[in-house]
Amino acid sequence: MSNVAPLSHDDLRDLYRELILNHAREPRNFGKLEHATHKADGINPLCGDKLTLYVRLDSASVIQDASFEGSGCAISIASASLMTETVIGLPVDDARNWFEYVTTALTSDADVELGKLQALMGVREFPSRVKCATLSWHALHSALDNDKNPATTE
Ligand code: ZN
Repeated sequence: MSNVAPLSHDDLRDLYRELILNHAREPRNFGKLEHATHKADGINPLCGDKLTLYVRLDSASVIQDASFEGSGCAISIASASLMTETVIGLPVDDARNWFEYVTTALTSDADVELGKLQALMGVREFPSRVKCATLSWHALHSALDNDKNPATTE
C-alpha cells in the first residue's frame, strides 16, 4: 500500500511547470538534423519565437528522426522539445493527428488526455502564450506538407 498522498491540482501544476522548465533548459533533439527529408521554418511574431524544424522520413513514411534549432521563450522551446519527442517513431498520419489534437486542445477548453503534453495546457490560461506552444506544431505541419513558406502563428 502506498502512503503517498494523491497529487493535488497544485502539485500537478508544479510538476508541469517543472517539466516545461526542464525542457526549456535542456531541449531534447536540439540542433540541425543531418539528412533531413523535410524542413520548415516557424515564426511567432507576437513573441519573437523563431525555429527551424527538421524531419527525416523513411520510405514507409515513418518519422525516423526530428530536431529543431532556433531561439524563443521557454514555452516555445519546451513545446518544440516535447513535440519532437512525441512524433519521433510515428507514422506521418499519426503525427498529423497529434497536430490536430494538440492545436485544438490548446485553443479550446475541452478536457483532453495528452500524456506528457498535458504540461502545455497550462498556457490556456494565458492566451497570448498559446501561439508560443503551437509554433513548433505548425512548423511540423508545414514541414510534412513541404510548405516552403515559413509557418507563422499569425
Ligand atoms: Zn514565445
